[in-house]
Amino acid sequence: MTEPTPPTPDNAARPQDFVRKIVAEDLASNKWNGAVVTRFPPEPNGYLHIGHAKSICLNFGIAAENNGRCHLRFDDTNPTKEEMEYVESIQEDVRWLGWDWGTDKFFASDYFQQLYDYAVQLIRDGKAFVCDLTAEEIRQRRGTLTEPGTESPFRNRSAEESLDLFARMRAGEFDEGTHTLRARIDMTSPNLNMRDPVIYRILKATHHRTGDAWCIYPMYDFAHPISDSIEGITHSICTLEFEDHRPLYDWVLRELGIHHSQQIEFARLNLTNTVMSKRKLLMLVRDGHVSGWDDPRMPTISGIRRRGYTPESMRDFCSRIGVAKSDSVVDFAMLEHCVREDLNRRSPRMMGVLRPLRVVITNYPEGQTEMCEAVNNPEDPADGTRQVPFGRELFIEQDDFREVPPPKYFRLTPGREVRLRYGYFITCNEVVKDADGNVVEVRCTYDPATRGGDSPDGRKVKATIHWVSAAHAVDAEVRLYDHLFAAEFPDNVPEGGDFTDNLNPASLEVLTGCKLEPALGEVKPGGIPVQFERLGYFHLDPIDSAPGKPVFNRTATLKDAWQRAQKKA
Ligand code: ATP
Ligand code: MG
Repeated sequence: MTEPTPPTPDNAARPQDFVRKIVAEDLASNKWNGAVVTRFPPEPNGYLHIGHAKSICLNFGIAAENNGRCHLRFDDTNPTKEEMEYVESIQEDVRWLGWDWGTDKFFASDYFQQLYDYAVQLIRDGKAFVCDLTAEEIRQRRGTLTEPGTESPFRNRSAEESLDLFARMRAGEFDEGTHTLRARIDMTSPNLNMRDPVIYRILKATHHRTGDAWCIYPMYDFAHPISDSIEGITHSICTLEFEDHRPLYDWVLRELGIHHSQQIEFARLNLTNTVMSKRKLLMLVRDGHVSGWDDPRMPTISGIRRRGYTPESMRDFCSRIGVAKSDSVVDFAMLEHCVREDLNRRSPRMMGVLRPLRVVITNYPEGQTEMCEAVNNPEDPADGTRQVPFGRELFIEQDDFREVPPPKYFRLTPGREVRLRYGYFITCNEVVKDADGNVVEVRCTYDPATRGGDSPDGRKVKATIHWVSAAHAVDAEVRLYDHLFAAEFPDNVPEGGDFTDNLNPASLEVLTGCKLEPALGEVKPGGIPVQFERLGYFHLDPIDSAPGKPVFNRTATLKDAWQRAQKKA
């Protein structure tokens, strides 16, 4: 794995969003003695997705811009859903995006003892009690948005009794579901989260790091503020759904009298044609709708990496969508636009034929080969040129030939001359068909005076097509991807259905027997995608490719729907 290069802070260029404004004001007022400490706190219960990238870029970005630190903290307080595999993948993904947590990697599970001690402190202070109600009974007494809740009959038991029961919960004396530890706040609060919320529960499950050392586990709303506090986080940036939890976040830290990080909420990223909850992504994986978390159709970081999206374009995307206080949905086309813009600048151009049709140049000497000079990247002259072999037999795209051309079709057809990119002008003279009448070969003549693709007599052709020499072609498999969900909003389904009803049955098309120019056989895994001229960007699949047997994933087509829409508007 290559060393991550931290993105250069581009403070000046970036419009100040409301979170950055708060950080700047705090620095100006010296609220935190000049410190900026943020954190990215994933729960290791799935792979990261593009939504997480927004949070990662925001948290790591703010730290980098302000000479601060960003902690990577695994919020691993629920042993039933978490695994080491996820811990590993999360680190790989954050690094791939270009960020570096240095030595600041933490696990909430490392704080289990401290969290326990803080819970004991709350019980002693009369701020928490052990409750013998079941989860269902607690729910029934919770009240509604318009009616207050009912106090637990155990709410006023003595601190001594609660301390004893809590110790016995920890010792494993009670079954799951029989006891909880609850904060003692206010059952009449208009905020349901403040109605004596459960802060510890019994779970007789093995934790991926602490094993069987614990059988009681803290709830998120208790563990999170304290973890932030222990680490000296200054700005605890989270998504909007935690706004209603902020009073509890503040209550916990206030009652304990410990370092009080400021929670700030921003709008989560939503993308069209995508689902972005780990629970749903896990369903897609478990139920075999995709090949895995890293299926190139998945909105996971590992999926888009395998597809060929670049970390540069993802950071660019995250900075363009901005950070706001209200939820919105970003058009998937904008994400693709960022990918195309980066790849257009940097991708080498090569020629590959996806659906080959054989062309025989009848006036070209048998057995002869010559090299044609091709430009690697017209956007970047420094990229130079390469030699592409040309011979008597070539492959072109089936689509670039029509025996009976429709109106406005300017590519190859009997009697017409076209340009082979970097090659020669050719004219089609004859069509060879199989027994079923399918065209299997076209026979052409070339004009030797047009080498390089220019006619010295100024003759014009209306089309330039790509090609590959048959004798030198590398055989490949190419996978074409479309949206995993056909519907713009996959979660909108009629009663009784679910989001998988909106899966796009045509999201994957596998082409075998594709013919690529020899240089495409030399592409190494891990680089950036290549532009197949006229077709799109393609990325060598790092998993299914074998030496001499490349598999390419289509990263994106060349049509930029987003840019077109912007121009029209
Ligand atoms: P999901 O809802 O997809 O299951 P999560 O919020 O449960 O995700 P966490 O592991 O808790 O996943 O997320 C880690 C951090 O990433 C949190 O701070 C969370 O707010 C943030 N995050 C998650 N989804 C998004 C999103 N779509 N846009 C921006 N930030 C997000
Ligand atoms: Mg979460």
